[in-house]
Amino acid sequence: MGKPTGFKEFSRAVEPYRPAKERLLDFKEIYTDHDDQKLSTQAARCMDCGVPFCQSGEGCPVYNLIPEWNDLVYQDRWEEAFDRLMATNNFPEVTGRVCPAVCEGACVLGITESPVAIKNLEFAIADKGFQNGWLKPQIPPSRTGKTIAIVGSGPAGLSAAQQLNSVGHSVKVYERADRIGGLMMYGIPNMKLEKSLLDQRKDQMETEGIEFFTNVDVGGNLKNSIAVEDLNTNNDVVLLTTGATKPRDLPIPGREGNGVHFAMDFLKANTKSLLDSKHKDENFISAKGKKVIVIGGGDTGTDCIGTSLRHGCKSLINFEIMPKPPEERASNNPWPLFPRTLKVDYGHEESAETFGNDPRVYSISGKEFIRDEQGNLKGIRTIEVENFEEIEGTEKDWEADLILLAMGFLGPEHYVSEPLNIDLDERSNYKAEHNVHQTSNPNVFAAGDCRRGQSLVVWAINEGRAAAREIDRYLMEETTLP
Ligand SMILES: Cc1cc2nc3c(=O)[nH]c(=O)nc-3n(C[C@H](O)[C@H](O)[C@H](O)COP(=O)(O)OP(=O)(O)OC[C@H]3O[C@@H](n4cnc5c(N)ncnc54)[C@H](O)[C@@H]3O)c2cc1C
Ligand code: SF4
Repeated sequence: MGKPTGFKEFSRAVEPYRPAKERLLDFKEIYTDHDDQKLSTQAARCMDCGVPFCQSGEGCPVYNLIPEWNDLVYQDRWEEAFDRLMATNNFPEVTGRVCPAVCEGACVLGITESPVAIKNLEFAIADKGFQNGWLKPQIPPSRTGKTIAIVGSGPAGLSAAQQLNSVGHSVKVYERADRIGGLMMYGIPNMKLEKSLLDQRKDQMETEGIEFFTNVDVGGNLKNSIAVEDLNTNNDVVLLTTGATKPRDLPIPGREGNGVHFAMDFLKANTKSLLDSKHKDENFISAKGKKVIVIGGGDTGTDCIGTSLRHGCKSLINFEIMPKPPEERASNNPWPLFPRTLKVDYGHEESAETFGNDPRVYSISGKEFIRDEQGNLKGIRTIEVENFEEIEGTEKDWEADLILLAMGFLGPEHYVSEPLNIDLDERSNYKAEHNVHQTSNPNVFAAGDCRRGQSLVVWAINEGRAAAREIDRYLMEETTLP
């Protein structure tokens, strides 16, 4: 334990973002440089509890060894802290940036005080590892002769690939996009997660022996596509980590026509154009000068807000069908559960900076997209709701010429699973038990959002690691993987 009285002496302090005014001018990361002294003070607040809920089932989904690395940071032993962090998490440089910090909701200090700034500490430890070259490729000493094809290169696929390769299996990862990373690459925007970090990881994993094949739509129609049956025949195991990619639509009158886009079409094109040409190719849906309405909250909605503001939108509104969350935990949401409280994320803060107000409007639902005689989008008619029930007489028209649908995802696409005869669960995900991951086709495993439904990066890492362990056990009858 770092400093026994640290939790009494020091208050919670989180690393600030760059000022909204400044960061709105670019797509660079929103974060500021790490301050070792402040982080050490924060680490000193950790009480090294007898039962550290932060790393329990209610806390960090990858069971990060949080009290251990808090203590090491307090003692200025950053390299050891990095080793302990890498023991449980394949991509802490990602979770340290984008995780909602489930751990902090379960921090014991959080019962009476503000929790330790655990996520900031993870972020700084990971960055130090990258900057100081502590991240070394783990090349397996020998090969088992077993081959595994992984379909999808999001956090679930990549963490499984790394784990399976580490015990000597030969791993090939197939990705239909032109870059690896799944939603870490083309969902989460660059200002939240700098994409060169993913390139560094790809280099490391290739050195370790993992092969990547991009622009390959397994079972689909792209030019380089391959049949999923061939992958199944030619490999000992196929692991599906294809994500939950079917977006939820808003099938109200006026849906057909210009101006209404799925959030992922907007976000993906923006990041691709940024990476390909710094936006010079203009190959993206621009919000410049437009009245934008984002339908749906959550991370996806916030990312649409942040991106629209950087394009230079004329106005911005965000609809949320749910009521405004409370400022403090409700009685049915006690510690150590993840707090469902009002959060002001980076996009909301930036909207307030630009237009003087938080863009969110709660308890509201779309009734009809309004179009002119030529079919051009002019706005949307809404109605207020309570418990999803419409409140009569509350219709309102809003002007808009770009509407982004960020209403979540319905599950995976099925053109990969159908030829493999995989059972689906009641939510149309690939059916497989958590921590078992084997589907109804014994050679085929599933992990990540395609199995559990739309979730978080840290849960995808948890699933990728668990699937790797179970695949290793299936192939070798025993396993040393955690
Ligand atoms: C806009 C947005 C922002 C988000 N922000 C956050 C955040 O801030 N923090 C957080 O924790 N989580 C966030 N999430 C959720 C998180 O990104 C996902 O839960 C996570 O990426 C799921 O990982 P996965 O590996 O299961 O799938 P994905 O990341 O979806 O990766 C699946 C991959 O499979 C590929 N694929 C699919 N079918 C095929 C095929 N037939 N052949 C070849 N490849 C295929 C896809 O192209 C994709 O690259 C966000 C999600 C979105 C949409
Ligand atoms: S991965 Fe998320 S839950 Fe786990 S320690 Fe990091 S911020 Fe906390």
